[in-house]
Amino acid sequence: MLQDAYVTFEIGKTKHIALVAHDGKKKELVEWCDKNKDILKSHFLCGTGTTSRLIAEKTGLPVKAYNSGPLGGDQQIGAKIVEGQIDFMIFLWDPLEAQPHDPDVKALLRIAVVYDIPIANNLATADFMLHSKYMTEVYDRRVENFNKKVEDRVSSMK
Ligand code: PGA
Repeated sequence: MLQDAYVTFEIGKTKHIALVAHDGKKKELVEWCDKNKDILKSHFLCGTGTTSRLIAEKTGLPVKAYNSGPLGGDQQIGAKIVEGQIDFMIFLWDPLEAQPHDPDVKALLRIAVVYDIPIANNLATADFMLHSKYMTEVYDRRVENFNKKVEDRVSSMK
């Protein structure tokens, strides 16, 4: 087990969902959350500061708010993915607008891939994800075994 290249982490029946939308995409995400609030209400929701507030106000659902994205919110969400506290993400980044925190955006997308969590970057994918059979089941995601990785790296550098 300690020597396996990959380990699995369970995404439980109740998902820990991060919601993030750039300014040009906020309206879309807020409306999508409102349309899907009967499903979303069964899960834990969080997101970047402004996005969370707008969703909470429109839907009445509790949404844990991290900092605003450009002020470190994307990085906080990335850290929670690493810690296993977020396992599902809807991130509507805006392909038509440059962002001051572009490195943070890339870092968040990258870490979500490393930790094999489902990520939707547009509403079509979000719809497919929300209506997947896995929304009501547990799912084992597959992650690089960091214990083995560190062991291997340490021995290769001695
Ligand atoms: P915001 O951050 O929800 O605070 O606007 C989103 C982002 O730009 O990452």
